[in-house]
Amino acid sequence: MTNFVNISASDVCSVERSFEILGGAWTFLVLREALLCNVVRFDDFQSNLGIARQSLRRVLDRLVRNGVMVQQPLQEGGSRKGYFLTDRGRDLLPSLVAAISWGQHWNDTDQYPEKILHKSCGGDLTGGIVCSECKEAIDPRQVTFESRIKRRSKGREKFAKSRYVELALLERQRPCSIAKTMATIGDPWSFLIIRECFYGVRRFDAFQKRLAIASNILATRLKRLVAAGVLELRAHPTQSGISEYRMTEKGLALYDLPLTIIAWGDKWLAGPEGPPLVLTHKQCGNEFRAILWCHECREEVAIDQIDYHVVPSS
Ligand SMILES: [Zn+2]
Ligand SMILES: [Zn+2]
Repeated sequence: MTNFVNISASDVCSVERSFEILGGAWTFLVLREALLCNVVRFDDFQSNLGIARQSLRRVLDRLVRNGVMVQQPLQEGGSRKGYFLTDRGRDLLPSLVAAISWGQHWNDTDQYPEKILHKSCGGDLTGGIVCSECKEAIDPRQVTFESRIKRRSKGREKFAKSRYVELALLERQRPCSIAKTMATIGDPWSFLIIRECFYGVRRFDAFQKRLAIASNILATRLKRLVAAGVLELRAHPTQSGISEYRMTEKGLALYDLPLTIIAWGDKWLAGPEGPPLVLTHKQCGNEFRAILWCHECREEVAIDQIDYHVVPSS
């Protein structure tokens, strides 16, 4: 079922609008529980994640308010309610797969392999985010973007308040590759910094200007991204005394996550004038969106075709 909410046409980039809804590492873990583990009860979310009740309440309320989840009776005619995903919510599967894939590939996760498989063929879906047109993996250096709608800079007080959540807290109940990804870029500011990197921004003052972010917050976030090996600080090739933040291979590999969030935002949040940003895949020459694709049976994968296992460490 789809629960329509009244979201007015927005002229900001879909990533930003989407992240106002999804923003925060806990949100992704709540979505993991709902999408991949079929959790619907407040108490189950709480005990599976070890999250403070108040924080969980805030996340679930935000998801309901934005039509990602809907509250419904757990049993027909019953009074106790659970949290169920809407179509809009289920469509976040590619973003979760992107987060799992990156978290697994770039972190030491051997002790607790998570498997995300295509039910019909058993094919591994990590690395399954591809270009909708040529079905190839997407290298950020092979993408051009064009803004069709002028971006409006608006207040980001919500972002300024959003806290960074430590990995240890996110993994309180069990290790998880989504948690690892989100501990790296799960707070909205870090995510927006990464987005700017994909737009080619490299200098401290340019980040500051484009994001209207306080310099101390920006400095802390950049430092953390460098420590995580996502960015590196390099001297400018020709201008002496100037440093630039460049993405490492590990950072470039994050691209699937913003791409899937853009695709989601374009589908569910864009107004009648269409997506604010048009992406072109240079490799195939087409405008595209990121999709979840099974390389074994060569078809797009939907949420009801997923098998998710956590193999606990012995
Ligand atoms: Zn393509
Ligand atoms: Zn398959």
